[in-house]
Amino acid sequence: LLQLYGPLNFLGSMYSAIRTALVDLEHMLGLTDETPEVKDPGKPAEMTLTLQGHQAASVEFRNVSFGYSDERQILHDVSFFAAPGKKLAIVGSTGAGKSTISRLLFRFYDVSSGAVLVDGHDVRDCRQADLRAAVGVVPQDTVLFNDTIGYNIAYGRLGAAQEDIEQAARLAQIHDFIMSLPAGYETQVGERGLKLSGGEKQRVAIARTILKDPRVLVLDEATSALDTHTEQEIQSALRVVSAQRTTLVIAHRLSTIIDADEILVMEKGRIIERGTHEVLLGSDGRYASMWAAQGAENSAAD
Ligand code: ADP
Repeated sequence: LLQLYGPLNFLGSMYSAIRTALVDLEHMLGLTDETPEVKDPGKPAEMTLTLQGHQAASVEFRNVSFGYSDERQILHDVSFFAAPGKKLAIVGSTGAGKSTISRLLFRFYDVSSGAVLVDGHDVRDCRQADLRAAVGVVPQDTVLFNDTIGYNIAYGRLGAAQEDIEQAARLAQIHDFIMSLPAGYETQVGERGLKLSGGEKQRVAIARTILKDPRVLVLDEATSALDTHTEQEIQSALRVVSAQRTTLVIAHRLSTIIDADEILVMEKGRIIERGTHEVLLGSDGRYASMWAAQGAENSAAD
């Protein structure tokens, strides 16, 4: 991770110069460091993905197998379906393949076999721009630009009206904090300005995503625990952004996904268990032991 700081700082300083360039946010935020190896189709599907007044879109993985190289297969026959507006959580130890699933959803890579579908469209038939507009991510670590806090939120939808920016900030529960700053929305943030805490940065990311208004949301939960109060605030802001939206949560704390419509438990690139929280607890398998272990951790921390 440390290796990332140099380039990110550099990017931060370069930012004013390139602010008119359309940088792909998700790509920059490190969902992947690689150059996408995929191409737009010659004749893209007429997507409903970018329609205004759109609704949540379904997400489906259909017998997906994938490897970053031919030698090593990472995902093995992964299938799931998240109906519009549903919340699907993915849990499993490091290296299980959780982030790989989100990369395939953005089509940073193409599957080896099977298919990834958003709103019923195979992502290979969609324009990249349509796909990136339809899928939003709240990443683990938010990169702030050396610009105003207002601009950092507006990045979710360049050219957004100030009142929309403020409305998004209100929903993300960061408006009052911004108004308490001497220069309000004009406050400079980033390496040469105000330093924001992890929780504040995350709320900026949530506000950006509210403004972007994607049909599918990927929440990559931070591994490092925030303090309980901040955590609760973040969770309630996330509930606002994920309401009515198809949401994929890459979860580290099982307490945040109790209400998920389906939980996938992954191990070594395979789904080894699936179901709701109650069903998984009742089946007394891997999820149940993860839950017991986290319970022990939580009470040890209290
Ligand atoms: P998780 O998010 O569950 O921690 P990942 O999806 O990041 O797991 O990784 C799954 C497997 O894929 C791991 O073995 C990891 O080493 C490998 N992997 C991840 N990214 C790459 C990459 N860019 N190139 C090669 N292997 C990778």
